[in-house]
Amino acid sequence: MSDILEKIKQKDPEQTEFHQAIQEVFETIKPVLDRNPEYGQASIMERITEPERTIIFRVPWMDDSGVVHVNRGFRVEMNSAIGPYKGGLRFHPSVNLSILKFLGFEQVFKNALTTLPIGGGKGGSDFDPKGKSDTEVMRFCQSFMSELYRHIGPNTDIPAGDIGVGAREIGYLFGMYKKLSNEFAGVLTGKSLSWGGSLIRPEATGYGCVYFAAEMLATQNDSLEGKKCLVSGSGNVAQYTIEKILHLGGKAVTVSDSSGYIYDETGIDADKLAFVMQLKNDRRGRIKEYADKYPEAVYTATDEAMTYNPLWNHRADCAFPSATQNEINETDAANLIENGVRLVAEGANMPSTSEAVTLFLDNNLLFAPGKAANAGGVAVSGLEMSQNSMRINWPRDEVDNRLKGIMKSIHTSCINASEQYGKPGNYVAGANIAGFVKVVDAMLDQGIV
Ligand code: NDP
Repeated sequence: MSDILEKIKQKDPEQTEFHQAIQEVFETIKPVLDRNPEYGQASIMERITEPERTIIFRVPWMDDSGVVHVNRGFRVEMNSAIGPYKGGLRFHPSVNLSILKFLGFEQVFKNALTTLPIGGGKGGSDFDPKGKSDTEVMRFCQSFMSELYRHIGPNTDIPAGDIGVGAREIGYLFGMYKKLSNEFAGVLTGKSLSWGGSLIRPEATGYGCVYFAAEMLATQNDSLEGKKCLVSGSGNVAQYTIEKILHLGGKAVTVSDSSGYIYDETGIDADKLAFVMQLKNDRRGRIKEYADKYPEAVYTATDEAMTYNPLWNHRADCAFPSATQNEINETDAANLIENGVRLVAEGANMPSTSEAVTLFLDNNLLFAPGKAANAGGVAVSGLEMSQNSMRINWPRDEVDNRLKGIMKSIHTSCINASEQYGKPGNYVAGANIAGFVKVVDAMLDQGIV
């Protein structure tokens, strides 16, 4: 397989995040290929690493002062072997093809793990919603959708939110899709409740990640009760991760954004979490304000030039990275271990570098890769699609129970696959193998397409 990875690197040398994601999967599925020679045929590995379709388009929009800007829009339709493409849209200045291909690749295996019939994709733009007015964001979303709408549909490709794309952006995108297609269709998930959304969708990724962590602890007759937890990010995933940690009796002591982080030794309780939600979702402010409001908390500024992130250098039991890719490097991983952390559950996609993952596994931490731990978001998106098709709304408890059931079943699949292929306790191998087998079996059934 190293020759395949080498060819991919030569073809697109700058796509380092994509190479990182492929390498991790390749390293763990070797025993599957050894035991199932048919998987080595029909160039499955070459096909699974090449998107079925990549769409790149111009997104021109006008700001409030009449100046025209041009951004780049993307949709990577990675794999539709088990269902229509499904995966979020990310609006962030760092977005490029490498990041979207890595996210799309991970999404394929994650979606397979949910047990729902959905393929994988990812998209977005290098547009930065930070500091833009609502009308600027609306004009951008409308321009973005005026091209994307011809490539998506409820049976083809169903995007959702991701970094920089929340309820506001989904609303503007949906409005434009509906106008252009003249159809009220379940073409986006993460919609508001009153027009086709699902209860528990906003909570799903964070809640699901904590449910997964609780399952891992249960294998050691332990629970989150009384556990001190480090959480990064302050967006959708971080907020509901903190909420569920609180529900299960744990204590979250950190929260962050791209400018810095808060350490609150007394714990982020329900009132403080409500403040974070209002600050980030309604006022779109900076996390620094938390320390102005709660003097017991300490704010530390961070920047990308730092060789390690001090957020990961506090005494704790568990860590829930919930901001962005590669936010835990080898030094951070060593600091976490040194500080007593025994469980890491990835709410974000690929937040740990390969070196960090190796350290976690070598030190026998309970380590849940994003593919498994953050699959709750797309799982409830899948449930939103089902409710849209049936034109019904399930009650909150029903969706939450289904989410819990799905996270439990992903946990079981990871455990079973890791044991079956001689890697007991290794959730990285378990998640990659279980997802891979399902997708590849479907690809083989469907011939060379
Ligand atoms: P949001 O946009 O709601 O929040 C992102 C948070 O991460 C913000 O606090 C943001 O800070 C911070 N952040 C973003 N980029 C960086 C960076 N380069 N350095 C430091 N901090 C950064 O996004 P989500 O919560 O939805 O997504 C977070 C992660 O979870 C992503 O990896 C996403 O792919 C993953 N994920 C999300 C799912 C979902 O359902 N939303 C599903 C599965 C995975 P700031 O405000 O300063 O930008």
